[in-house]
Amino acid sequence: MDQSTINALRAQVVPQRLHVIDGKDVPASDGGLMDVISPIDGTVLTQMAKGTAADMEAAIAAARAAFEDGRWAGQPPAARKKVLHKWADLIEAHALELAVLGVRDNGTEIGMAIKAEPGSAAGTIRYYAEALDKIYGEIAPTSSDVLAMIHKEPVGVVGAIIPWNFPLMIGAWKLGPALAMGNSVVLKPAETASLSLMRMVELAHEAGLPSGVLNAVTGEGAVVGEAMGLSMDVDVLVFTGSGATGRRLMEYSARSNMKRVYLELGGKSPNVVFADAPNLEEAAMVAAGAIFRNAGQVCVAASRLLVEASIHDEFVAAVAKNAEALRVGDPLDLQTAIGAVNSERQLTQNLGFVQSAQDEGGQIITGGARVLAETGGFYMAPTVVTGVTPDARLAQQEVFGPVLGVTAFESEEEAVRIANSTVYGLAGAVWTSNLGRAHRMVRAVRAGVVHVNTYGGADGTVPLGGHGQSGNGHDKSLHALEKYINLKTAWIKL
Ligand code: NAD
Repeated sequence: MDQSTINALRAQVVPQRLHVIDGKDVPASDGGLMDVISPIDGTVLTQMAKGTAADMEAAIAAARAAFEDGRWAGQPPAARKKVLHKWADLIEAHALELAVLGVRDNGTEIGMAIKAEPGSAAGTIRYYAEALDKIYGEIAPTSSDVLAMIHKEPVGVVGAIIPWNFPLMIGAWKLGPALAMGNSVVLKPAETASLSLMRMVELAHEAGLPSGVLNAVTGEGAVVGEAMGLSMDVDVLVFTGSGATGRRLMEYSARSNMKRVYLELGGKSPNVVFADAPNLEEAAMVAAGAIFRNAGQVCVAASRLLVEASIHDEFVAAVAKNAEALRVGDPLDLQTAIGAVNSERQLTQNLGFVQSAQDEGGQIITGGARVLAETGGFYMAPTVVTGVTPDARLAQQEVFGPVLGVTAFESEEEAVRIANSTVYGLAGAVWTSNLGRAHRMVRAVRAGVVHVNTYGGADGTVPLGGHGQSGNGHDKSLHALEKYINLKTAWIKL
């Protein structure tokens, strides 16, 4: 990956993007289009189809037809595996093109995007390609006069609604296991990050995925997403995004066919640093990276820093120093550490959180403002706010931006109480050299993952999912397959 190749790719004109329904590029039923704004400079990058409810229904019908005639589900596992591997090959072959297109659309710094987007997506698809012919049914240990065989069947039509922060990575977390198990899928990318995911859908067809098996409809969540949620013909809905939308999806399900709904929602993840941390310098550096990468637009971002009072001032100063060293700027510049905020709406929301934190007594140690406004893009300085009380808005609500709230604690008990004082439970970390304390904290902190003396870790073999209002079900690992299968028992009298 070199700067001149990136520059050449960014200079390319982005063609208009239509829906993909039954293997064909299809315009919106009313011809509607919407502008795609680049967060890099606020200009219009291209236009894409502004879907209607009728478009979503057509995509669902195509997916249903493909499922019912077995053109994918009926293929031998080895054949499905071959197609998925070929798809991963194509994603790898087009990695830089996909990454640059995605960055122009969503603003993630390219260094991160290349790994976290096409790199991760290809790896995920390969993982499930390899898994699909290693999943067996079961024979239950019943009494000897019967035979109870438990089959694992695809669910049918899966609806997948994807957010804007990592469209390829999160898209693949849903598409990989759903397609591996033989389902048909209808995809709804986010308004502000559709382009690279739509290109990835195109590559799936190039790899030999039969038409109708993977359909994608762009447009507004409130229109096409709602139509998907209310459909009587979607069997399972998988979603990553905000709690507010997740709540709506559950309502849609209740109002329609009671489809299964799996939600990967937000977080307010606590990073708990004790004075006995093995290496406070490293802890400060990781604490900054854990909130500021991708401008804080990471579901597991460590957005709350809880620091033992005895080291508070010195540790906060070290975190602020690390934050200031992260260069904010053009996400397609290889030197950039923090790219653009995804949209103007998101930037305004981030700044609103900074204001409310100050109103509630917080002190800004560094950042707190928009930067590089002259570019027309949406950039924000990494921001550290101290004196955040556990009940403050900044401590309770997800910002999804580069804003770190710091709270001091006096004891392990208090640290646990504060760590668990939100409705969320996605991720967390503890920094200590006391082994007993590390294990106690792992048990006590309510979260899908608790790190010890580190933060992050992107291995596809571990499940990702939230406790509390961070969601239900899991992406990644073999556990993700459970969402995309139905168990069926054959009960046979012998
Ligand atoms: P969002 O909920 O607004 O949008 C997510 C998706 O839902 C988009 O595709 C959008 O078009 C669609 N949508 C919006 N309204 C809808 C409706 N009424 N019906 C159906 N679909 C609708 O969230 P966002 O702004 O894209 O993403 C930010 C949020 O997502 C943050 O809260 C973040 O924490 C969360 N997130 C969670 C994870 C995770 O793994 N848990 C990962 C990434 C992001």
